[in-house]
Amino acid sequence: MDFARSRELFGEANDLIAGGVSSQVRRTELPVPLFFERAEGGHMWDVDGNDFIDYIMGRGPNLFGHAPRFVIDAVIAGMQRGVVFSGQHEQEVRVTKLVREAVPLKGLIRYASSGTEIDLLALRVARGHSGRPMIVKFEGHYHGWGDTLQYSVKPPLDRAGPEEAMVPVPSTGGMAPGSDQGLIIAPWNNLAALERIFQRQGDEIAGVIMEPIMGNANCIMPRPGYLQGVKDLCARHGALLIFDEVITGFRVALGGAQELLGVVPDVAVYAKAMAGGFPQAMLIGRADAMQPIADGTVDHGGTYNPNTIAMSALEASLEHIMADTDGFYGDLNTKGGQLMDGLRDASRRAGSNLLVQGPGPFFITSFSDRPEITDYREHALYCDSEKHVRFTTGMLGHGVRISSGTSRWHIASTHTDGDIDTTVSVAYDVLRTL
Ligand code: PMP
Repeated sequence: MDFARSRELFGEANDLIAGGVSSQVRRTELPVPLFFERAEGGHMWDVDGNDFIDYIMGRGPNLFGHAPRFVIDAVIAGMQRGVVFSGQHEQEVRVTKLVREAVPLKGLIRYASSGTEIDLLALRVARGHSGRPMIVKFEGHYHGWGDTLQYSVKPPLDRAGPEEAMVPVPSTGGMAPGSDQGLIIAPWNNLAALERIFQRQGDEIAGVIMEPIMGNANCIMPRPGYLQGVKDLCARHGALLIFDEVITGFRVALGGAQELLGVVPDVAVYAKAMAGGFPQAMLIGRADAMQPIADGTVDHGGTYNPNTIAMSALEASLEHIMADTDGFYGDLNTKGGQLMDGLRDASRRAGSNLLVQGPGPFFITSFSDRPEITDYREHALYCDSEKHVRFTTGMLGHGVRISSGTSRWHIASTHTDGDIDTTVSVAYDVLRTL
């Protein structure tokens, strides 16, 4: 495939936009960050006329594939009434009733536009609720790019401290001094380690934040009983359990991981897949936890929350899914399962060591001789990330777009059996060359 025009535009963009991109992870697309002309359903077309089956899917928002007509029509109709009121509108109440039907955690809600913002609000709610300073954050989990959370996301192990005394490692330069002071870094999927932290510092801990399925490294599922164990520990010590469902929400099930795995947290944040590609995020919390926002002792603002574009997209998305919730997620899981099995089979036939992990509607690939990766440190030690970059680059060259930055594949309801068959056959060809 020829990427000449993308190369030309990227060269031009570098003189105009810092680094040529507006979100750092996009620089990881090789051989060059692509420029797209159009995207629809499971496919994207770049400025060189190449056609790709896309599994990046906007990194999660495009649950119905690109440019879903029913969402776009609802947005066009919705915004005829006006876009940003900085005032209330009836749709906000109507849609929130739908959201309350959809999500197991029944509580009070606040809207925002991105996962990062809403994660920051969740921390503020936890600290405001208890008056305590500390948040437990797990190594390898990502909760957006805010200063007080972007620690120990992919830390080099020689800087991350021993497993029993993990050290917050900043993921970026430019952090505010002391922005790690409210964080305790812990190993995920290890209840005994968390028990020790609570024994030591239980009366200082406001909340525990986690991705309930680890979607930013190897797509690791929680061990049986782990989520309930964390919930019980939090309850015993008066801390809030916060699920970051930014990836899992509306994707692994309508209500997210809390529905799939049967453990309901005290607070949860959602974004990405909730609004068919449009920027919408929300925080749901138990009524008592949200009381500080309700009474104004904890502040939350946002010029664009919740504008009619995002709300119309959310309303259309929920109505679409809820017309046949079981059918929708049954289909998404079947497609994801077919693709995961197909990739495993392609790897076996090609004599490769591609590892495929995840719940189905999204999953992560890596190269490892281990049968399974169960925590971040195993990921760092036993996965060949350089080989994965060669894999994604090879796939892109054959018309299949997956992320070399996160290795996360997202299934869309508009991916076809043909897309999946083609992907598996391309994967076999590429795996043989690695
Ligand atoms: N939480 C998780 C689990 C995420 O994966 C992401 C983004 N990939 C975020 C939060 C941040 O969301 P946003 O990019 O919308 O700020």
